[in-house]
Amino acid sequence: MSTRVLVVNSGSSSIKYQLVDVDSGEALATGLVERIGQEMGAFKHEGPNGVVKLEQPVADHESGMATVLALFAEHGPELTAESLSAIGHRVVQGGSVFAGPALVDDEVEAKIEDLATLAPLHNPANLQGIRAARHAFPTVPHVVVFDTSFHQTLPAAAYTYAIDRDLAEKYAIRRYGAHGTSHKYVSRTMAEILGKDPSEINVIVLHLGNGASASAVRGGVSVEVSMGLTPLEGLVMGTRSGDIDPAVLFHLQRVAGMSTDELDDLLNRKSGMLGLSGSSDMRDVHAAVEAGDEKARTALEVYYHRIKNYVGAYYAQLGHVDAIVFTAGIGENDDIVRINALSGLERLGIQVDAERNAGRKKAETQISPDGAEVAVWVVPTNEELEIAREAVELLAQR
Ligand code: ADP
Repeated sequence: MSTRVLVVNSGSSSIKYQLVDVDSGEALATGLVERIGQEMGAFKHEGPNGVVKLEQPVADHESGMATVLALFAEHGPELTAESLSAIGHRVVQGGSVFAGPALVDDEVEAKIEDLATLAPLHNPANLQGIRAARHAFPTVPHVVVFDTSFHQTLPAAAYTYAIDRDLAEKYAIRRYGAHGTSHKYVSRTMAEILGKDPSEINVIVLHLGNGASASAVRGGVSVEVSMGLTPLEGLVMGTRSGDIDPAVLFHLQRVAGMSTDELDDLLNRKSGMLGLSGSSDMRDVHAAVEAGDEKARTALEVYYHRIKNYVGAYYAQLGHVDAIVFTAGIGENDDIVRINALSGLERLGIQVDAERNAGRKKAETQISPDGAEVAVWVVPTNEELEIAREAVELLAQR
């Protein structure tokens, strides 16, 4: 029997799941429950017999999970407690408490709940999924994998904000980073591709999706990450501003009378590419540029500029860079972004070959010319596989 892990990523109104065969790395089934708690819910389940869609109200995560089990039972593949090695759960914020995955028990649940002060939108939603899955599968080990854990290795110089120490300590204010599972998977895969142990290479990872983050990974260990206390800091994103002078907030409070919630909404949901160009989706932004839209063109320039700043900063911190890796929705699919974000860096040994770069990349692809000092690659991320592997590794250690 193969090693199978059900990976669950639970949001406030959604549950994403994937049944992973850890030995082959394949997804045996994927699915999505949406609009939990709303008038009409939606299910999508893709298994061995294709895609099944279902519309019915989903009162809460418990009933969503029950319907998912029914979909597995009716449309396959088999999903019994006996067929599962573990259930792996994605959790956004592990704070300084979790430097790696953890086997779920009531104490771990309580710690995740405590950390909700740092991630009020995410951790409680993640917990709802964990609780529903524990009810559904009480005999299967549940493992939580945190988005922040991979970055717990950051040196103090990188994670410390230059504010009052006592205040920072009291309120646990520091850089935690995010997308750690992806940065880890992608940097390890890059080492494998180069035929090296992760400890032998330095990598800059550019995870460019709707949310976007850069990291510097030295010898397999994360030493820099662009996201901070929350996933708001760093690169320009779909709807998030990324780096901004905090004084902009005081200024807007004073001159525009904006409240804390309005400012939160502005920077997290109405900024980034959406705020600059009118759309958060990079495909729309390119289409607008094609149609001569100046705002969209400037938005893209800001987007590239910020990435280049981080590449330069992380190059300086690492001293030597073996590879730069693009991943996630934009990193994997958007050749225009890839070539522009790294243009003009030849003196650093960084080059992108236009022909190799062209088009969407469904598999690992080198886009730098042969012999370039820094290997530039596209490596499609696979957070579910990484979560499944980490769950299995943790259980093997016990
Ligand atoms: P999330 O952070 O939500 O997981 P993804 O990694 O799935 O995001 O990335 C989603 C983004 O990827 C979309 O908003 C879109 O901007 C971008 N994207 C997806 N496909 C393409 C494409 N073919 N060309 C350019 N951008 C794309």
